[in-house]
Amino acid sequence: MQFIESLNTLRELRQSWRNADHTVAFVPTMGNLHDGHLDLVKQAKNLADKVVVSIFVNPMQFGANEDLDAYPRTLDADRSKLEAHDVDALFFPAVDDVYPRGLSEQTFVEVPGISDLLCGASRPGHFRGVATIVCKLFNMVQPDVACFGEKDFQQLQVIRTMVEDLSMPINIVGVPTRRQEDGLAMSSRNGYLSAEQRTTATQIYAAMEQMRKAICARQDSYADIERIASQSLMAAGLKPEYVTIRNARNLQPAEPGDYQLVILMAAFMGTTRLIDNMQITLDQA
Ligand code: AMP
Repeated sequence: MQFIESLNTLRELRQSWRNADHTVAFVPTMGNLHDGHLDLVKQAKNLADKVVVSIFVNPMQFGANEDLDAYPRTLDADRSKLEAHDVDALFFPAVDDVYPRGLSEQTFVEVPGISDLLCGASRPGHFRGVATIVCKLFNMVQPDVACFGEKDFQQLQVIRTMVEDLSMPINIVGVPTRRQEDGLAMSSRNGYLSAEQRTTATQIYAAMEQMRKAICARQDSYADIERIASQSLMAAGLKPEYVTIRNARNLQPAEPGDYQLVILMAAFMGTTRLIDNMQITLDQA
């Protein structure tokens, strides 16, 4: 595996692969890699001749009071995992090289509408930061295909919309969420949880399962299902930010005729903000 910090080196490698007619799959990450990230890598390997993984903790997508400085940075361990998965190149750019003129002078990409809902409502500017860094990384790596986790469902929709709106010649592939055995979605932020909080956090998956059953039973209104789930999270000691049933295509509140649904949740466990989601396809009866 090549470890690349400079954009020029990356561009030279990309050109050599283009000359050899190799296709390239790309997995952007913020590092602290777990098995969920590695599922993306495995999928990427199936989709192209060469795989590039990036590790970049993107300051532009963190709010002023968020965990940018505390975000776990574990480069050596990440490198070994990527080596073991036969990744061709790890791109690890420095913040000053990605944003040489600083954040306030930086051209940005904003996907309207979808970026303002849900996580975008509580984290203003977050999806602008995500769309901008993904656009920049796409221009740096020039992949044919890029893999993103369904764990960050809204993020995946923002990226798909950006790629379509800006006519980027890149195939975006969503990869299912990897969970721990008790249902908790793997996340770098799980490392912030105490043992007790970690146990309580399993209620997120339990609440989504309850909601799925209630949705499929088609007895209670979506508003009632959301309210009951929210109450059960609060009773367990979590602080839900949103618990909502949405149309999976446009993330608008689900209507009775919609059959491709997604349950989306964000909840605080102590100071740690956790997100999760579950897709549901109803029979079109
Ligand atoms: P991050 O490093 O958290 O920015 O995530 C990098 C990529 O890995 C994103 O596309 C995430 O959606 C994806 N990802 C994170 N956690 C998981 C998970 N538990 N299962 C699948 N993909 C994940």
